[in-house]
Amino acid sequence: MKATIAVLAGDGIGPEVVAEGIKVLQSVATRYGHSFAFPQALVGGCAIDVTGKPLPTETFSLCQASDAVLFGAVGGPKWDDPSAKVRPEQGLLEIRKGLGLFANLRPVRVYPQLVEASTLRPEVLRGVDILVVRELTGGLYFGERQEGTERAYDTMVYTRPEIERVVRVAARAAQGRRKKLASVDKANILASSRLWRRVTTELLSREFSDLQVEHVLVDACAMYLIRRPATFDVIVTENMFGDILTDEAAMLAGSMGMLPSASLGEGRRGLYEPIHGTAPDIAGKHIANPLATILSCAMLLRHSLGLEVEAKAVEDAVAAILAEGKRTVDIATKGESPISTVQMGDAVARQVAG
Ligand code: NAD
Repeated sequence: MKATIAVLAGDGIGPEVVAEGIKVLQSVATRYGHSFAFPQALVGGCAIDVTGKPLPTETFSLCQASDAVLFGAVGGPKWDDPSAKVRPEQGLLEIRKGLGLFANLRPVRVYPQLVEASTLRPEVLRGVDILVVRELTGGLYFGERQEGTERAYDTMVYTRPEIERVVRVAARAAQGRRKKLASVDKANILASSRLWRRVTTELLSREFSDLQVEHVLVDACAMYLIRRPATFDVIVTENMFGDILTDEAAMLAGSMGMLPSASLGEGRRGLYEPIHGTAPDIAGKHIANPLATILSCAMLLRHSLGLEVEAKAVEDAVAAILAEGKRTVDIATKGESPISTVQMGDAVARQVAG
């Protein structure tokens, strides 16, 4: 097949890890006879430096004209001035909103080879395989807000259709997995959460009666993710709750460098990115773990291009090279000598090539 993948590498380690993702996709194309084009565009801090905007018009047009978007990360100390009118993160928020990408899928899988890399005990981590579906274009991050030096506020607004569409995505995913769905809210305090719970309950009993459903308060969920993570299958939740819980869940997998994500809307076009940021502390040192980006490329193959066999080949290649003992510094334990970002990308690409 022919496909156009817009590449928005961004700032910090973004370009370093995205280069390895492209390498693996090229290996997929060669092995399976596809033709992928990778046009690049500016986003985030580097786009502000050149154009004054975090999302230049031509970048957004390229995303609209492509089958999928491969995104690195944006931001960094250079653009951190709180009084600045434009911020790199606005670029990402604008793309999500502009492309109508309302569901963010974040799989959290603990590879058996990496149980020692986490700060949690191996017996707690064995068998962890969670899919968090985070609502992405509503809630606290998009509600009306007021800045101020003495008083400021943000608002969390949800509508029935916004809740229904993201819960449907999560419920369908649960049907293809272990058929368990946890809906996370703060219904004991927040009105928007009480609506979330009512709409979720109605929808699931109407359309997804085959699922085992639990409603969990977000504070309790934060605790259960550490105490009994292996009991979760699919989790669906509001934008900010999902943002926080997925960073917590990332620690189950040992490193931010291991977690991919997909942002999807009604159609096939999606945006794929590692969940980590630009990691200014290690940018330019060539030690960033590219596996989160490479696993995001597997999600791209699956969700936007419909190439399930190829997606699985990439995921299997990652598992295989981990089984061989290859580690970047963030996932290396005592006695293991780490390899570089490029060496890790090369290893996965070679494995995919067969
Ligand atoms: P971060 O994810 O960049 O880094 C957190 C820690 O994880 C750091 O110690 C970093 O070295 C490590 N880390 C992250 N990715 C890694 C990888 N691939 N391999 C090895 N180690 C890795 O989060 P932060 O430090 O809070 O944020 C840094 C900048 O990134 C900020 O400007 C923030 O706004 C931005 N950010 C962007 C996005 C995005 O573009 N989607 C997401 C989060 C943060």
